Amino acid sequence: MKAFKYRIYPNKTQEKLLVRYLDLTRELYNAALQERIAAYQWAKREFERSGRDALSVPAKERPKGVTLFEQSRSLTEALQAPELAEFKQVYNQVLRDVLARLDKSYQSFFRGGGFPKFKGRDRWNSFCFPQIWSNGDWRGPGKLSGEGAWRKLQFPLEGRGNRTHIRLRYHRPLEGTPKTLTIKREGAAWYAVYTCEGGGALPLPKTGAAVGIDMGVNPNFFTCSDGRVVEAPRFLRKDARKLAQAQRSLSKKKRDSNRRRKARKKVADIHARIARKRADFHWKTAAELVRNYDLIVHEDLAVKNMVRAVKGSVEEPARNRRSKAGLNKSILDAGWGSFLNKLHQQAKKAGKQVLAVEPMYTSRDCAQCGARNEREIGKLYTCSECGNVTDGDLNAAKNILKKGLTHLGDSGRKRTIERSGGKKKPGSARINN
Ligand SMILES: [Zn+2]
Repeated sequence: MKAFKYRIYPNKTQEKLLVRYLDLTRELYNAALQERIAAYQWAKREFERSGRDALSVPAKERPKGVTLFEQSRSLTEALQAPELAEFKQVYNQVLRDVLARLDKSYQSFFRGGGFPKFKGRDRWNSFCFPQIWSNGDWRGPGKLSGEGAWRKLQFPLEGRGNRTHIRLRYHRPLEGTPKTLTIKREGAAWYAVYTCEGGGALPLPKTGAAVGIDMGVNPNFFTCSDGRVVEAPRFLRKDARKLAQAQRSLSKKKRDSNRRRKARKKVADIHARIARKRADFHWKTAAELVRNYDLIVHEDLAVKNMVRAVKGSVEEPARNRRSKAGLNKSILDAGWGSFLNKLHQQAKKAGKQVLAVEPMYTSRDCAQCGARNEREIGKLYTCSECGNVTDGDLNAAKNILKKGLTHLGDSGRKRTIERSGGKKKPGSARINN
């Protein structure tokens, strides 16, 4: 567990609220301590009335006070009472944490520490949200929003879903998975202290969206099942042309000549530039997918390439027709593998899921009715069953997403994925954790 401490700047109203939190949590702490003492004294009296000596019996049989569990349960009941209505201003988990805090100081007393003390105003300067993250997302309290050096910390107000946002100076990035948030007063200043587990970048919040991507050849890098298209970058094509030119020029140079050496360096430089730009494009594109979707489904590349290789040898003419675009294509082809690697890496870090599915029939089946059609060459997909006419890549992307969702459904993971009803975008789906 690592702690990250940030200064926060509540406005007047917010500061009043924080002070209210301090007052009420302190009151609860003192009341709970009072209850424990009274309960213990009562139990001890009862015990002594039975004529036994507390120190001469085994620890198990000695008189006990009240436990954390019991206090927690009675808190739930107590909060129903109209005269304790003001405690409803405080987020329930914060109140529960107060009881846990008292229990901790009792535990330390049993281990030989001092007896828990009643807290005066100047001895109570913090309260804690014990659970601010679950299922890969913020629960609400403590959630940070915004960009750059000034962020907003979400703070709950009374009533479900009500909240305010406190300005926070984000002087260093939060790392790992946030577990708890403690709000602290030190003199006149307020601080937010997050404790986080593990390292690495903060997991990205869940968006509830899933997508299938159909990896393509020029001009599109891929097509998403929700209709979004990511173009292959133009600079790659331009560089590819330059590379072809440089390679031709190299082949004409005499062996061991100075010119040949220069030409070879030029080819190597262009290769390096292409690799750099492509890697950059891949990182950015993968990051965007991971930010926007919780589940990304793509075709299994190894299988896809195999299928294509077989087709190529059967359809000799097709290969010739494509040879002109060959260089561009091979650059993009080589790119897919490294793009998918980056996508998997980033998704893992962000707590998102990437799934490879069998590419069989993804371009032939109708995403609307499921009928299997012969695929004609050309952009449009036409279904002879339902009359669906649509972009071929989009149709494939929808099938890919469907395959992914089916796969997850079949394997019966704890995460159930279901299509949402109503106004969803075509081909998109919801994930419910
Ligand atoms: Zn159809």
